[in-house]
Amino acid sequence: MDYYGVFGNPIEHSLSPIIHSQFAKQTGLDIKYEKILAPLDGFAKTAHMFISQGAKGFNITVPFKIEAFNLATQCSLNAQTAGAVNTIKKNGNELIGENTDGIGLVNDLTKNLNISLNGKTVLILGAGGATRGILLPLLNQQPKRLMIANRTASKAIDLAKDFSIYGNTCGFGLDKVKNDPVDVIINATSASLDGQMPDIATGVANGAICYDLMYGTQTPFMDWAKTNNAKMIVDGLGMLVEQAAAAFKFWTGKQPNTQEVIKNLRS
Ligand code: NDP
Repeated sequence: MDYYGVFGNPIEHSLSPIIHSQFAKQTGLDIKYEKILAPLDGFAKTAHMFISQGAKGFNITVPFKIEAFNLATQCSLNAQTAGAVNTIKKNGNELIGENTDGIGLVNDLTKNLNISLNGKTVLILGAGGATRGILLPLLNQQPKRLMIANRTASKAIDLAKDFSIYGNTCGFGLDKVKNDPVDVIINATSASLDGQMPDIATGVANGAICYDLMYGTQTPFMDWAKTNNAKMIVDGLGMLVEQAAAAFKFWTGKQPNTQEVIKNLRS
């Protein structure tokens, strides 16, 4: 049996063990995947202990993704540009870091929802860790323009500058969002966690595909999108399953059937 797990603090809410056990069943692999609560000041020590017990890899969630980046001995380009790691694979003495969040979002959009980003205008709300993780995979889809709007404008401007070598990006404050419709809006703020919706011009949502990274509940962003005539409104459950599938493939080489798992979780 191969051992994997997910580290976080808190971690009780994590759906990852359910998702990975369904992947293991589908692919016929004998896998044990557990939730591990690491102390806030003890991530690296707990992770090393897990590896020394024979684990082949693990996922990392809030608040340890940056510490995981520092723990990894090698990192993919995705992880390097994100400055954060959500998946580690043990390979001999190396701990290889990957960030599958952006791959997960792009796979949900393009494969599950049949949405092409090529040539589209995309607006991301938020400039935190999640935005940093999704930017490179989104830019690889060659949107016409990728705009980042954030409550703290300077963070959006800095992020856009950091990623400008990969595509057409720009950053500004939420107050600078224009009333003109865009093709896709991605809510990557944590405002939904507080029951809030960033205060932006409403005309931007008219006919747009509105995607909230948050999942498990109807969010204020999803309500706002509906009120303002969005074409399609989606939560982040598909992204969660797709980022897990990318991690599963990174560890085992096997591609699970994500649509079946998304359907199971929704029901
Ligand atoms: P961070 O804490 O790194 O960033 C939070 C961002 O939200 C910042 O840009 C912050 O702005 C902004 N923000 C917070 N509150 C408000 C508000 N009331 N109004 C406007 N902006 C606000 O969080 P993450 O980037 O790590 O996570 C963002 C979201 O993405 C979370 O809901 C998380 O659950 C979700 N997520 C989902 C995943 C999935 O698989 N579906 C994967 C990863 C994340 P400022 O800079 O001004 O503080």
